[in-house]
Amino acid sequence: MYKIGLIGLGPMGNNLARNFASKNFSTLVYNRTYDKTADFINDFRPEFSQDTLEGAKTIEEFIEKLERPRKIVLLIKAGEPTDQVINQIAPLLEKGDIIIDMSNAWYKDTQRRSKDLEEKGLTFIGCGISGGEEGALRGPSLMPGCSDYAWDQTKPLFEAISAKDFSNGPCVTHIGIDGAGHYVKMVHNGIEYSIMQIIAESYEILRKIYGQKPEQIRAIFEKFNNGKLRSFLIEITEKVLAQKDEFQSEQHLIDFILDQAEQKGTGKLTSIDALDRGIAVPSITEAVNARIISSQKRLRENFAPIFSKNVTEITIDDEAIKELENSLHTTMIISYAQGLNLIKTAAQEENWQINISEILRIWQGGCIIRAELLKTLQSAYQGQDNPTHIFEIPTIQNILSTEISDLKTTVQKGLSADLYLPCYTSALNYFQGFTTEKLPANMIQGLRDFFGAHTYHRTDREGIFHTKWS
Ligand code: NDP
Repeated sequence: MYKIGLIGLGPMGNNLARNFASKNFSTLVYNRTYDKTADFINDFRPEFSQDTLEGAKTIEEFIEKLERPRKIVLLIKAGEPTDQVINQIAPLLEKGDIIIDMSNAWYKDTQRRSKDLEEKGLTFIGCGISGGEEGALRGPSLMPGCSDYAWDQTKPLFEAISAKDFSNGPCVTHIGIDGAGHYVKMVHNGIEYSIMQIIAESYEILRKIYGQKPEQIRAIFEKFNNGKLRSFLIEITEKVLAQKDEFQSEQHLIDFILDQAEQKGTGKLTSIDALDRGIAVPSITEAVNARIISSQKRLRENFAPIFSKNVTEITIDDEAIKELENSLHTTMIISYAQGLNLIKTAAQEENWQINISEILRIWQGGCIIRAELLKTLQSAYQGQDNPTHIFEIPTIQNILSTEISDLKTTVQKGLSADLYLPCYTSALNYFQGFTTEKLPANMIQGLRDFFGAHTYHRTDREGIFHTKWS
């Protein structure tokens, strides 16, 4: 009998099965197409015994050979395929058995599946997983959303296979019920979109304003990675810049990669959900827009010669590098501020009881946005009385007060050089908006009342007012 059942032998399932087996959890795998199972067993049989890692030919054999209550991890394509597999296995399962969906599922699907399976006496965990293929093998960050029963049953498994935080704790926590885990994973990806875009914009500034070559930019990112920006994404930026091309000898690969960014949709879903809840996440949304605009290359090529750009190079010095480092740091904090504010609002609306400090802890290892900054944010959160927004926390206020002037300078330099810097500018605008006591929204309200009798509130008396505008 096997402790864990895993369905889906794509890159993620393949690596997670080996992770489970390497922690001595006997693991049985199943894949719709048996050839993949056979290849998998063939490739990895030498590393493990048959009792630790085995493949099943049929779904019936798979279900029969699992210990009760069964724990079945799904790592298959999100959406319709997940429903198909659940419908296939649910009739074969028994009361108390647990299905753990680790796809990038839409959290509302997870809520629906949790409810449907609960009605059948089964238990469902919607578990966000981050860290890509490497994380799945060596230790991912895990974000399970489920009942207390399901968490008690699976906690030792999750803790054993997950990455470690800065204090060597497991990068997993019980996020909340039903869709909470998949929701937090979605927002994680939204923040990831924003941070990747800020890195790309920093590269653009170094390239076009300071005239730096890939090797020089690599050296600057190496320096960044030895300081407060230390993170997985900054580290791999350095590696991407270092990569030489395989076709054009001695040239850097980055110069031959087409400037059209693709996406799988989690950034878009974060933005749509944020708009639905009335929460501003402009840096995440601008990161999605930037990918959309980049993909419309034909239009960009047509318009570029008509509207010429005015880029004047500036000599780089230590002060300019520090300015960019602070801009990146403060913009990352502003991106987190937006994502965390969204999670907090969703948690209230969905009754999820999410502990933000715990989220900042479990993102410290394994996941794509793992970063030194998460330690700063987590310790800033500790001892706070559940702040509504991280701008309320004194440590964060100090960092923003110190670094925001550098962000302003970066944006000014970028705009003067006709650069497209959507994430830097939107982060600055977000900061300015949230730190301005009186905004021109009085004008919006006046206009709305003028053309639509939408009414307005006044500054000097209570009530709702409408004016017969002349
Ligand atoms: P894929 O998303 O490409 O999924 C491949 C697996 O899905 C295969 O085992 C395939 O079976 C199975 N599958 C597809 N359709 C069906 C179906 N209708 N019925 C049964 N099985 C089906 O592989 P990945 O390993 O990249 O991702 C797995 C999951 O992990 C996805 O949901 C993804 O969102 C999530 N994820 C991926 C990350 C990544 O970095 N790749 C990171 C975090 C989460 P078959 O071999 O028979 O075609």
